[in-house]
Amino acid sequence: MSSLLTALNPEQLEAVTLPHQSALVLAGAGSGKTKVLTTRIAYLIQSGEVSPHGILAVTFTNKAAKEMLTRIAAMLPINTRGMWIGTFHGLCNRLLRAHHQDAGLPQTFQILDSADQLAVIKRILKNLGADDEKFPPRQVQWFINNAKEEGLRASQVEAYDDYTRKMVEFYASYEHQCNKEGVVDFAELLLRSYELLMRNEIVREHYRSRFLHILVDEFQDTSRLQYKWLRLLAGPKTAVFAVGDDDQSIYAFRGANTGNMREFEQDFRIPRIIKLEQNYRSHGNILDAANTLIRNNNGRLGKNLWTSEGRGEPIRVYNAPTDFDEAAFIVDEVKSLRAEGVQLSQIALLYRSNAQSRVLEHALFNASLPYRVYGGMRFFERQEIKHALAYLRMIANPEDDNALLRIVNFPARGIGLRSLEQLQDEVRQQGGSLWEAMLKKCRGREPATSGLLNKSSAGVGENKEPDRPRRGIEGFVALIESMRQVCETLPLPEIVEHMLEHSGLIRHYQAEREGADRLENLNELVTAATAFVHEAEDDGLAVFLNHASLEAGEHQAGGGEDALQLMTVHSAKGLEFHSVFLSGLEEGLFPHDNSRNEAGGLEEERRLMYVAVTRAKRRLYLSFAQSRMLHGQTRYNIPTRFIEEIPQGVLKWLQPVQKTAPWRPAPLSPTQEVAQRPQIREMGVREATASPWRVGQNVVHAKFGAGVIVNCEGRGADARVEVKFGRNGSKWLLLEYAKLTAL
Ligand code: ATP
Ligand code: MG
Repeated sequence: MSSLLTALNPEQLEAVTLPHQSALVLAGAGSGKTKVLTTRIAYLIQSGEVSPHGILAVTFTNKAAKEMLTRIAAMLPINTRGMWIGTFHGLCNRLLRAHHQDAGLPQTFQILDSADQLAVIKRILKNLGADDEKFPPRQVQWFINNAKEEGLRASQVEAYDDYTRKMVEFYASYEHQCNKEGVVDFAELLLRSYELLMRNEIVREHYRSRFLHILVDEFQDTSRLQYKWLRLLAGPKTAVFAVGDDDQSIYAFRGANTGNMREFEQDFRIPRIIKLEQNYRSHGNILDAANTLIRNNNGRLGKNLWTSEGRGEPIRVYNAPTDFDEAAFIVDEVKSLRAEGVQLSQIALLYRSNAQSRVLEHALFNASLPYRVYGGMRFFERQEIKHALAYLRMIANPEDDNALLRIVNFPARGIGLRSLEQLQDEVRQQGGSLWEAMLKKCRGREPATSGLLNKSSAGVGENKEPDRPRRGIEGFVALIESMRQVCETLPLPEIVEHMLEHSGLIRHYQAEREGADRLENLNELVTAATAFVHEAEDDGLAVFLNHASLEAGEHQAGGGEDALQLMTVHSAKGLEFHSVFLSGLEEGLFPHDNSRNEAGGLEEERRLMYVAVTRAKRRLYLSFAQSRMLHGQTRYNIPTRFIEEIPQGVLKWLQPVQKTAPWRPAPLSPTQEVAQRPQIREMGVREATASPWRVGQNVVHAKFGAGVIVNCEGRGADARVEVKFGRNGSKWLLLEYAKLTAL
């Protein structure tokens, strides 16, 4: 038997060595789905069934795609370049770039990330004079992306009411604007390449006969359109090999659809689903926790995991008084893990929402523990990096209105809102891009722009002459033209350096009080460009810019350093770590407030919890804080119900419960609560003092107005109440500070 296959169990072996046919592997976390998929690619190539050229594999993140390539390269001494391995977005980008003309796009088309997209939408709404209370830009964004996800162009959306008609109008203007600028958003990448395959028989047949094997990881999270894309790409001779786990479907909110699994079975005539049940990742206690937790969900396809490993360590649970204490606890534990010899990169700190990372980051920073954040404020999403990228985008394509607007007056060069609005008006009336309008303006007054080329943009802003804005615009045009000229012959890292130096960004942040971090990030952009030149086949500026949009967050500072991994549970999908800290396990945070009351929302949160728990190989920490500062407000939360759903026998509580931490918000007064919860009292609760506050009482708060108490907790200095305010929603308030007045 080939050495590739020796470590596999019989079911894995069957999946890896299946003959040329479509197949579905349905199996729980850590059962080797990704391993099977990767090994199958190597096996198919090694056995001569297919050349690397005939393989297309879809992964969920760019990180996973890279890992897959590394693993295949380690198994086989082949050049992996011919293979198409990437995310749906990455693969669509590749397809569109190869056939940009057929797809009706300029060669250097740029990708708008979600924030850029929102900026374009805001501009359009403003131009159309739309009422943004009635049509909030985010809602318009959601409408557009949703329509695209359903495969619908503006002209195809059926509108039965005025509201939808308006939305369709915005969508149409947005389409028009994007086409004019030659930019595509994420949803467009998919839709545009779907349409390309649909309409262009030559392109479609070319890829259908090329890709003999399509392999899809994390199949449970494919969206409708992604599935249709796959179905279109798979020809009669293509074998589609999909692996997934319905219990890990965590993107329903983004249109993912486990129904695809059932359709796949029919569409591709799958004779029998292959199941894998042995888990190779986690020790017994962790697996028990995951299995028991997920059993609370209905409508599962049903499977259980077992391990031949022992029970391992218990799952540690920590009840912290505040989020700061929680972070301090995590730092201490990380230090002792490191002292035990665990690499920092093998330790993950997971949380439900990005905003939760700040406190952890702060504590890690103070403890000098290196860490890397995936997702959230990603490297390529930071303000200074976006400014720098906008300059680079202008160098690549000055018609990019979005990039232009971002930097035309950054650093300040005296170009005011009014002159920009004038330009935008002109563009609206006469068509073309802002850049063209600027050129016209300059040329209208001066014989040529070339005479301006040597003027630096800085300094122009200080000019106090009456026509200051015009001079500002001339300076900007000259700057961009000179950059374009110089950069034409420079290699990528030098383009970045040149841009940083001449744009005035470095000078601007040097002068800023807290600019040191930002300067570091800007310098890191040169590092990212250098790394890119070493890794990429095509290292042109346009390709680098796309890489920046697509890979946001995956080239963080300190690339090679051993660092803790911080990320949301969503981004941890498919990964594994020696130790995992799962923090912020509180009702309202996890399960998230937004999902608790939605149909299916709680089950999706539970699947997310299942994903989180199953990332740990050896050690798992669950922690929650009784009070937490989030979005500028202190919240008093109770522990998540998910901890209760785990068998208590596998848990080890690291600290006795010292304060009242009721498991459910109970509509009881503090006095009643103590009387009914003697076990909590035994653990050291301070004696209850009679409280003047009770559930149902009407109160007034100086800032939030009138409300009614719906919940009481704690006592003495910790006494707090939840008040439902008319306009301001529900809030937990510490009585000592809240200064409530009884009505
Ligand atoms: P997830 O659902 O979380 O994506 P998965 O099913 O894709 O999990 P893998 O990541 O492929 O699981 O495998 C989990 C771990 O188990 C990996 O470290 C992998 O190398 C290991 N593993 C898988 N199969 C075997 C095997 N037969 N023998 C030894 N180790 C294995
Ligand atoms: Mg996997």
